[in-house]
Amino acid sequence: MIIGGGPAGSSAAISLANKGMTVAMIEKKTFPREVLCGEFLSHEVTSALKSFGLYDEFLSLKPNRVTHFRFIPESGSAATHPLGFEGFALKRSLLDQLLIRKAKSLGTTVVQPAEVVSMRRVNNFYEILCKTSKGIETYAAYTVIGAYGRQNIIDKSLQRSFASSRTGYSGIKYHVPKEMLNGAADNEIRIFSSNGIYCGVNYVSDAEATLCFLSDKGINQLDPKNALNELLEKNSAFRELFTHDPLPTLVKLPVYGTGNIFFGKRSVIENGVFMIGDAARVIAPLAGDGIGMAIESGILAATVLTEAKKNKRSAAETETLYKKEWNNLFLKRIRVALRLQQFALNSRGGNIGGRLMQRFPLLTEKLIQWTRR
Ligand SMILES: Cc1cc2nc3c(=O)[nH]c(=O)nc-3n(C[C@H](O)[C@H](O)[C@H](O)COP(=O)(O)OP(=O)(O)OC[C@H]3O[C@@H](n4cnc5c(N)ncnc54)[C@H](O)[C@@H]3O)c2cc1C
Repeated sequence: MIIGGGPAGSSAAISLANKGMTVAMIEKKTFPREVLCGEFLSHEVTSALKSFGLYDEFLSLKPNRVTHFRFIPESGSAATHPLGFEGFALKRSLLDQLLIRKAKSLGTTVVQPAEVVSMRRVNNFYEILCKTSKGIETYAAYTVIGAYGRQNIIDKSLQRSFASSRTGYSGIKYHVPKEMLNGAADNEIRIFSSNGIYCGVNYVSDAEATLCFLSDKGINQLDPKNALNELLEKNSAFRELFTHDPLPTLVKLPVYGTGNIFFGKRSVIENGVFMIGDAARVIAPLAGDGIGMAIESGILAATVLTEAKKNKRSAAETETLYKKEWNNLFLKRIRVALRLQQFALNSRGGNIGGRLMQRFPLLTEKLIQWTRR
């Protein structure tokens, strides 16, 4: 049983179904739906789409190709760097729909919309309580994969250590029409920064760009809207990106956001539940690798679980193996991304970082590599 049908959950379902396992998935929202995300897709995503046989269909959705990266701090020092791989940008509503459809076509039973509200272990199975339009339904499963994203009611139900933590991090996303931006749609992802905030901008189609920012109230003492205001005031390149003052338009656009994002350590196995994607750990969004990690961890969990069944591994052996493989694949990039985020969220650090990137392009290339596989 997989809880959550985002990139992590759907990828796990596709991989398990491909290996002949019986899979069910519970997803809270009706698709297509938008979520908070900068919508940059790194090469891990495209590799996985190819292995799932979805690459042509993905290209037919006309994602924007992203080949270059630019970091622009308050000082404005900015150089464009090749990513070293071909990235893309596409609305999450389209990407997530593509993946969940594939999971369904391979035989995954998807209960949707249905929200898991609690879960407990009873002997050797899990009893899962789910809120649906018909009321509360109960499901039972021997193996559970948690793919429900970065924060959830389930974390409390499982008594996860960080469930009551308060952090100052908030994220917000808008889809803005290209008319709001100066210049033509292009193949660059730009990150603008100021004290306690950074904002990524990339086109997701010919007509729209994603504007997505992370703000840390612990640094700037500002709510997200005022933090964006301050970014506009202090970072002239960000201000000049817009054809006119963006704030009056932004307040009329749909907003996707959340507060209290927790980047700290979490256990990747919790009470026997295999966590994947953001439920296992949230990578700093500056790296633009969260979706890649979600998909890779879904594939990893599917591989470890099917191998365990084939080789009759004990639960303890399987859990140890998953933790080890997960650490090998992800720990380094999570640590590097968090360090870089600390720099970007600090005016002085951002300005120094911008200058270093300009002067040492090879260092930038290495940093991009270290934040992904
Ligand atoms: C500000 C910001 C910008 C980002 N930008 C990028 C970027 O540009 N590129 C990138 O690669 N990554 C980015 N990320 C990270 C990326 O969004 C996540 O890493 C990715 O969405 C994780 O996928 P997931 O499947 O684990 O979780 P999610 O995408 O959150 O999916 C979880 C799913 O579970 C469902 N669900 C939740 N609770 C329940 C429940 N109780 N019962 C049933 N279903 C449930 C939800 O409806 C959802 O569909 C960004 C993150 C932030 C915060």
